[in-house]
Order: sequence, then C-alpha cells, then structure tokens
Amino acid sequence: MMNRKTLIAAAGLAVLAAAPFYTSNPYYIHMIGTIMIYAILLFGLDIVVGYTGQVSLGHAGLFGVGSYTAGVLFLKLGAPLWVIIPASVVVTAGFGALLALPALRVTGPYLAMVTLAFGTIIQILINEMDFLTEGPLGLKIPKPSLAGIQFDEHGFYWLVFGLMVVSLVVVDRILKSQLGRAFEALRGSPVASDCMGVSVYRYKVYAFVISAGFAGLAGCLYAYSEQYISPNTYNFELTVLFLLAVIMGGRKTRSGALLGAAIIVILPKLLDDLEMFRQVASVLAVLMTVGAIVGVVKKITTPKAMIIPVVGTIALAGFSFWLQSITDWRLSIFGLMILFVVYYLQDGIVGFVRSLFVRKGSRISVGAVAVMDAAKDAITQAGNTGHIAVGSDLLTAKGVLMQFGGLKAINNVDLHVKRGTIHGLIGPNGSGKSTMMNVLTGIYVPTAGSIDFAGKSVVGRTSSDIALSGIARTFQNVQLFGEMTALQNVQVGLHHSFNSNIVDVSLHTPRYKREESASVDRGLGLINFVGLGDLAHEEARNLPYGKQRLLEIARALALDPQLLLLDEPAAGLTAPDIKELVAIIRKIRDHGITVILIEHHMDVVMSICDQVSVLDFGQKIAEGKPTDVQADEKVIEAYLGGTAT
Ligand code: ADP
Ligand code: MG
Repeated sequence: MMNRKTLIAAAGLAVLAAAPFYTSNPYYIHMIGTIMIYAILLFGLDIVVGYTGQVSLGHAGLFGVGSYTAGVLFLKLGAPLWVIIPASVVVTAGFGALLALPALRVTGPYLAMVTLAFGTIIQILINEMDFLTEGPLGLKIPKPSLAGIQFDEHGFYWLVFGLMVVSLVVVDRILKSQLGRAFEALRGSPVASDCMGVSVYRYKVYAFVISAGFAGLAGCLYAYSEQYISPNTYNFELTVLFLLAVIMGGRKTRSGALLGAAIIVILPKLLDDLEMFRQVASVLAVLMTVGAIVGVVKKITTPKAMIIPVVGTIALAGFSFWLQSITDWRLSIFGLMILFVVYYLQDGIVGFVRSLFVRKGSRISVGAVAVMDAAKDAITQAGNTGHIAVGSDLLTAKGVLMQFGGLKAINNVDLHVKRGTIHGLIGPNGSGKSTMMNVLTGIYVPTAGSIDFAGKSVVGRTSSDIALSGIARTFQNVQLFGEMTALQNVQVGLHHSFNSNIVDVSLHTPRYKREESASVDRGLGLINFVGLGDLAHEEARNLPYGKQRLLEIARALALDPQLLLLDEPAAGLTAPDIKELVAIIRKIRDHGITVILIEHHMDVVMSICDQVSVLDFGQKIAEGKPTDVQADEKVIEAYLGGTAT
C-alpha cells in the first residue's frame, strides 16, 4: 500500500523532472515551474488550513515578503543565491510568527478578517517603502547564478523542481510526525490538545511559522522565475486563489496541493482559448459521469446526490459548444467551476478520487501476541516510579470558589484525594462536578481558593503545563481528535515522550525513528489495554460512542499521569461495557494511578470508590466511605429533591 503510493509519486515526479526534454517551449516550462512554486506555498498553507483548521488570507502577503526579501537582498546587497534562499525562508517565517498572534486570540471569520488585513498591510508596506522596494515601479531580478554558473531556463526549472521535492518530503515528514499530530489535534479539539500536554498556543504559532517559511521559499523562487516583482502581484485575488487551491485540490494531501496549484495556474489560461475550453468541458463531463456511475455502483454515493453535478458538467460542455466567443464569459465560468468543486467535493478532487478507489478504513491487523506484550509494558510504564505511599494526599483543594457571573458553580469546596485511591465525586446534574474538573485541569482559574497537586500549586498554570505535571483527564462530552485514527489519538497523548525537533523529523534521524516507533508500540499497548486492539487504525469519529469513551481513557493514560480524572466514563455504555470499564478502572488504580471518578451509575461508584465526596449546588454536602455517604440523609434528600420535584 505504502510502497505503491511512493512508487506512483516517484513516477509522477520523474515525469515532471523530465518536462524540459519533451517540451522546449519556454512558455510551458515557465508555466510548470510556476505550478511547482505555487505548490511549495500550498504545502505550507495546507499545514495551517488543512491540519490546524485555521483560515489564512495572509499568505499572498507572506509570498510577497519572500519575493521582496530575495529582490532586496540581491539588488541592495548583491547577496548570493545560497544566502538569499535561506534568508527568504527565515525572514518570512518571522512574519509568520506575527501572523500567528491574532490566531491565538480569534478564530473563524474573525481570523479570516485579521489575516486579510495583515496581507493588505504587507502590500501597502511594499508599496510605500520605496527606499527598499522601489514602490509601485517594482524590482527587476535576473535569473540566479550559483558558484559562478548562470542558471538558464532549464537549469532554473530543475532548481525549482529540486526545491519542490525537498519541500514535499519535508512537509510530508513533518505532518506524519508528532508535530503533524499536534497540528491536527488542534483542529480536532483544542481543549483536549491542551489537556494532553500539547500547548495549543505553541503549536498554532509553530504551524504559522513553518507555513510561512514555505511561503517565503516560494516567494523567493517566484521573484527569480518572473524576473520582475511589483506590489500588485500580492493582492487579495491571489490570496483567495491560494485558499481555493487547497480546498479544490483536497486538504491534507500533497498531491492535492500540486493539483490545486495546477488548477489555479492552468485553468485561467485554458479559458482564454475556446477550443481548449470545449475539450476541457467535455473531458470533465465524461469524468464526472463515469465517476458518478462508479460511485453509485460502489454505494459510496446516491443517484440523488450525483444528479446535479452530472447534469451541471454536461450542461457546461453543451454550453461551451454553443458559445461563439469566450472572453466575456471567462471569469463567470471560472467562478462557477470553483463554486461547484467547493460545494460538491468538500474533500477536494483528490479526496473524491480517493473515496472512489480506496476502500474505507483499510485496517491493518495487528499481531495479537505482540500487542498483548506491549499492553503489559504500557501499563507497567504507566505505573510511574513504583513506590506508592497510600495515605498521603496527592491532591489538596481548599476553599475553592468558581463563580460565573452571579452563579457560584463551586462554593467553598475542600477536597483531599489520597494517593492510590479511587475518589468518587457525585451529585445531581448541575452541582458543579465537571466545573471542579475544569478547575483542576486549568481550563478555568478558580475565583478563590488553593489547589495543590503533588506539592505544587495548580492555580494559574496552563492546562498543558498541568497535564505534563501529571494530571490526565477524559471529558463528559467526548473530545477526541475525530479525523485521526485511534492510534494517532493516543500518540498525541504520548507527545511528551518526544525530544526530536523539526530537524530530526525532516531528516528522519535515528532519535526520531526510535521515538516514533516507541510511541507506536506504546500506543498500541494502551489501545489494547482498553480493549480496542482491532480498531487501532480506525478514525476516531467512526468508533461507536462507548468505544470512544474507552479511547479517551487510553489517550489520557498515555500522559503517564499520577492522577486520572474521569468525567462520567460510563455514560452511554451498555451493561457489559460498564462491567469492562469497571475492571479497567480497577486495573488503573492497581498500577498506582490515583483516580477521581465522576459517575451517575451508583452501583459503579459503590463498588469501586474508596472515598466519595458529594456536591449539591456547588457545595460539598457529604464525604466518606461509599456506604456511609449512601445512607447520609442530606445526600438522599439532594438526590430525591433533584429528581422528584
Ligand atoms: P455537573 O457536571 O455537576 O452536572 P457542571 O459543573 O457542568 O455540573 O455545572 C455546574 C453549574 O455551573 C451549572 O449551573 C452550569 O450551568 C454552570 N456552568 C458551568 N460552566 C459554566 C460556564 N462556563 N459559564 C457559566 N456557567 C457555567
Ligand atoms: Mg458534568
């Protein structure tokens, strides 16, 4: 599977590399070169858009920063190519960090607006800073030379090709590493990322910086390719075009970026020529019809869903033959085609083609024995340093107050959780249990009170910091990284076990390889521990609800926590599943991990908790052994009062 993919990619690249041999027409060479330059930018843009799920309309600006860094360094300082290329990458990456700042505060449409403003400001700056950029006049740059050898059209083509391949490999490696998983986790659930010790803050900045670096490289090559740059190039249209290219080609694929680049470069040119347009429209209509038939036969899609796209493309082909001249219609047709792709092929062209030919959820069966061994190791490792002194407090909360406006969701609560115990936290709906968990994990900062965990204060620290210090959790409303596999979800929890940096990842150094394979073994072990061994390579969103809850536990254990917080883990589980869950929680405790358990199933609480605290309207109304608490009058009243009236 993997090998066939690499083979197809290599064949495709070989065809691309050989282009100067079968067409010496400089027009086509330049066009393919431009596609490859755009592709470099799109690889990077996809990190931000496809993986972290942020919108950026600032990438044309970054592209411009790359171009002008190259132009200015060459014309003002006469810097050589081997300085200019890395300098463009580094300078633009710095601008990427600036662009990341708004992304830390806002998301969605607001972020789109802010990044758009960023792009506009860059364009204005280029325009105004005449002393560096010559303003609207633009800069003229000759084709580069290296070590005394002047690049001609073909030489430059291969330089671009080489750098495009390097970018492709580096981006691919980054995205398949722990860094890529961190980026993808941000999109899946920022809260869960933070609580797995993967700082949303840090990785958002990281994603923008890396993405900008590639935009800088692309911009630099573009300056040499065009041999003339002016501020007008880096405008709003270009930035929208980049975004569309990622979406049309298909996010989260490198082939999608290449295809997207080809579309935005070639399509406008094809539409200049009526004959060409007729051919393209006809081919498109045939492809769409065949695709739809295959899709319907394979039951991937329904005839109802396919009827409009098929009729639409056939109508477009018919329209092309009816047209006498295309000039007036060019932009409208281009717009229509884009709309069509964005609306009907939400996973882009590559995503659509993939869904036709690749079987869904191609599972890799895992050697059962190996996994069992790994499972034993995994949970032994999770047992931390070994000696567990039952009896001392692992967590001490004093006088915790959490106020939302006028509501005291937690009101002056003390909590003492002893090492090595399972501590139940119960109470009617809305009594403040989940809020307590959010306070303990740094999602909320308490209005008043102190919380000490393993001798250190928790209050005011970030969620990721608290997670790394040993508190892991699950969520009442499941917070998995939906588009990632079960194994990848757990690997995000194992993020702390990686020391390799971006260089290790790009070069696949022994350190990175060792850490990656250790995280796979460990991840499979944990998945097996919660009984999901055969679902390791299934996307989390495809798992049944009950299994998703178990996967969250496996992911939390990956943090090697001292304290595990479970928020209603049995909710939505069937009776046999609950039995299994109880066994799992016991095993976790037996390995020395302290557990705080919020649960509505009283039989579960009664059977496994060592100590129980009861909340009602944010206040602690009872505490003690499960049997004592169950008999407590205040508790009975709170529960009856909550349900009967
Ligand atoms: P439980 O988990 O015990 O069912 P919660 O802790 O979720 O209860 O909620 C306790 C109370 O705090 C509820 O009244 C809830 O509406 C309120 N609450 C929780 N989070 C917030 C918030 N972010 N803003 C305002 N009110 C909140
Ligand atoms: Mg709750």
